[in-house]
Amino acid sequence: MPDPAPAQISVDLSGQTALVTGASRGIGRAIALALARCGAKVACVARDAAKLQETVAAIASAGGTALAVACDVTKRESVDEAVTKVTTDWGRLDIVVNNAGITRDTLLPRMSDEHFDDVIATNLRGTFLFTRAATLVMMGQRYGRIINISSVSGIRGNKGQSNYSASKAGIIGFTQSVALELAGRNITVNAVAPGFIETEMTSVLGDEFKDEARKHIPAKRLGQPEDVAECVVFLASRAASYITGQVMTVDGGMTV
Ligand code: NAP
Repeated sequence: MPDPAPAQISVDLSGQTALVTGASRGIGRAIALALARCGAKVACVARDAAKLQETVAAIASAGGTALAVACDVTKRESVDEAVTKVTTDWGRLDIVVNNAGITRDTLLPRMSDEHFDDVIATNLRGTFLFTRAATLVMMGQRYGRIINISSVSGIRGNKGQSNYSASKAGIIGFTQSVALELAGRNITVNAVAPGFIETEMTSVLGDEFKDEARKHIPAKRLGQPEDVAECVVFLASRAASYITGQVMTVDGGMTV
C-alpha cells in the first residue's frame, strides 16, 4: 500500500503570483500544483526546461495558470532574469518558495571541494539569490511570503551529509535574520524542514532502507511531497500573517 497523501487545505490565493524553484519534480512540483490549485499564478523554475513544461501542463490541465522559467539558482544573472520575467509578465510577486536542492552525500574524509561547494551553491546561495531579488519587489508592494525549504538534517546532523546539513542549517539562520529585517514591511520569511519524503532524491536509498526508516518514524509512514506542499500553502496564506522567522518540521514526528 503506498503511503497516503494528506487532505488539501482550502486557501484563496487568487490575484497572487508565486515563484517555486525546483518545480520540475518532487516536492517543488507538488508545491507549484498546490499553490495553483488555490488560485495563484505560478512561475515554475528549474534547469531542465522540458521537465518544467510537464509541471506547467499539469497546472494548466487542472485549470490553473503557470509559466516555465528555465534558470540555474546558483547563477545571479539567471535568478535576476527569472524575477524580472515574472514581474514583467504578471506585474507582481507575492510568494517565493526556495525549494531547489541537491545532495552529494559522502563521509567527510572522502568529501571533495566540489561535493561541498556544489551543495552550498545550490541550496544556500540559491536561496540567498532568489530571496534578495524577490525582496526588492516585495518591499515595493509592502507584501510578501518567502518560504525556504530546509530539512531535518539542518536541525540535527546526519552522517554522510555534512555538506547538506551545513547548507540546510544555513538556510535556517538566513531565514531568521531576513525575517527580522522584513517583519515591519509585511513580508514573512519562514522555513519548512521536511523529514523523509518519497521523491527522486530519496529513491536511490532503496526499499530496504525505506522500510527500516518507516519503523523509526513515529507516524509509521514516509512523507509524501503533498505533506510538505500543504504546509507551504498555509505559510503562503494570509492566515499565516503573524508567523515569521519560524521553522516548521514536516517529519511525522522524527525530530520530537
Ligand atoms: P528532487 O526530486 O531531486 O528535485 C530537486 C529539484 O531541484 C528539481 O526540480 C531540480 O531540477 C531542481 N534543481 C536542482 N538544482 C538546481 C539548480 N541549480 N537550479 C535550479 N533548479 C535546480 O528533490 P526533492 O526531494 O523534491 O527535494 C526538494 C527540496 O526539499 C530540496 O531542497 C531538498 O533538499 C528538500 N528536502 C527533501 C527531502 C526528501 O526526503 N526528499 C527531505 C528534506 C528536505 P533540475 O535538475 O532540472 O534543475
